[in-house]
Amino acid sequence: MPTSGESRPHIVLLPSAGMGHLVPFGRLAVALSSSHGCDVSMATAVPTVSAAESRHLEALFVAYPSVRRLDLQLAPLDESRFPGADPFFLRFEAMRRSLPSLLGPLVAGASASALVTDIALSSVVIPVARDLGLPCHVLFTASAAMLSFCAHFPAYLDANSAGSGGGMGDVDVPGVYRIPKSSIPQALHDPNHLFTQQFVANGRGLVHAAGVLVNTFDGLEPEAVAALRDGAVAAGFPPVFAVGPLRPVTFPTTDEPEGKKKDYYYMEWLDAQPARSVVYVSFGSRKALSRDQMLELAAGLEASGHRFLWVVKGAVVDKDDAEGLADLLGGEEFLDRVKPRALVTKAWVEQEAVLRHAAVGAFVSHCGWNSVTEAARSGVPVLAWPRFGDQRVNAGVVARAGLGKWVEGWSWEGEDGVVTAEEVAEKIKSVMADDDGAKKAARVRNAAEAATAEGGSSYRNLAEFVGRCRGA
Ligand code: UDP
Ligand code: UDP
Repeated sequence: MPTSGESRPHIVLLPSAGMGHLVPFGRLAVALSSSHGCDVSMATAVPTVSAAESRHLEALFVAYPSVRRLDLQLAPLDESRFPGADPFFLRFEAMRRSLPSLLGPLVAGASASALVTDIALSSVVIPVARDLGLPCHVLFTASAAMLSFCAHFPAYLDANSAGSGGGMGDVDVPGVYRIPKSSIPQALHDPNHLFTQQFVANGRGLVHAAGVLVNTFDGLEPEAVAALRDGAVAAGFPPVFAVGPLRPVTFPTTDEPEGKKKDYYYMEWLDAQPARSVVYVSFGSRKALSRDQMLELAAGLEASGHRFLWVVKGAVVDKDDAEGLADLLGGEEFLDRVKPRALVTKAWVEQEAVLRHAAVGAFVSHCGWNSVTEAARSGVPVLAWPRFGDQRVNAGVVARAGLGKWVEGWSWEGEDGVVTAEEVAEKIKSVMADDDGAKKAARVRNAAEAATAEGGSSYRNLAEFVGRCRGA
């Protein structure tokens, strides 16, 4: 904790878009302002892409008035120039184009002493911050494994001329480990993809950051954290602060499941289930499963014989997700049959609270990194089913760390084939019966708790980062 005579740095946080980015930035904001004696502002582009983001920000700024809200009005982006692009990648692009002119007035008005931005914006924001004389750090919201991949990927492309059609192979990240071709985010196989262009520019720009905070802890990803710190991944890489798993920020939700207003209805449902009896199933906020895969998953959950809480997502952006549950799942029959032992919902649930509930025994997860960190904090074993982006890299971390199991052959977006109900049921049964796996996951939880407790490695790393901002 800071002592009373110390100056309070004013740190401006500048996340990109999507819950996977806003959630950890909100957690960092609260940690800095509540536990590390900082003044904090958070600048976000409005209106947000999804309703979940806007609800989350409203709740955050109401619950933590000490975190100052700054709204960014972006210049419109001609989206017709990027046909079929993911709406979140389009938002990254719109922010990247607007920030050079917005940033100066923003930080001048806020009297900022330091800036923390998001990897998706960093190659644009870091040079502008330098011109403004402001130290600019990056909060990397995914794994250290993914950070090391992101830092090395431009050099890999240069050496293999994959960018000019040479084709992509496995990527051996120096000092870390080999990322197989099959685990590389889908978009990066196409050098002309909007995401690839942003990703490569941001990877190249990272060496110019004042430092990189990453939402992991030394014990979870020892190889990647050490290799980043000692310059093995990229020469001249800035200081790396492993500050995770960032402590969740909780606030009441007022979601209305299927038109019935009942806050925390799912927590009441969990309260009524025996300890470690429920499989929690969620594929995060970014993508929907294909219709065929959803039906197989439904049948697999039913055939597993276990209780389950399944958060179903029907569209990429929640505002477009109009179809009812029964329609998505092929009729009312499935819902009627599983009702005695399952809760299936399309509404947002406070996942972190769900994972901490004693009734939850396993987590079928897409391995978005926030979900992985939440599983680590709660010690719930993961059945990893990555679908897209960095999720296979993250699933690799889950398996290495003993936090869960990953069936590497299970298909992901863009690959043919669905995972059958039989395979799903069999794997769920085996994870639920795996006492050794549960013990290993509990060990990860203990290590995560130790890292974030006062005096733990992540706590000290965050304090060191704040010390630098104070001295800036
Ligand atoms: N989340 C949640 N309730 C939901 C769906 C998601 O609280 O119904 C949270 C989840 O706990 C995590 C974030 O949204 O903190 C999603 O981030 P993640 O990196 O796991 O995946 P993404 O959605 O970016 O793919
Ligand atoms: N990412 C990156 N550079 C970028 C944009 C994203 O390294 O320019 C990383 C990001 O941290 C994540 C992965 O690439 O590990 C996929 O990004 P996306 O924003 O799609 O992640 P999500 O929203 O699913 O968390």
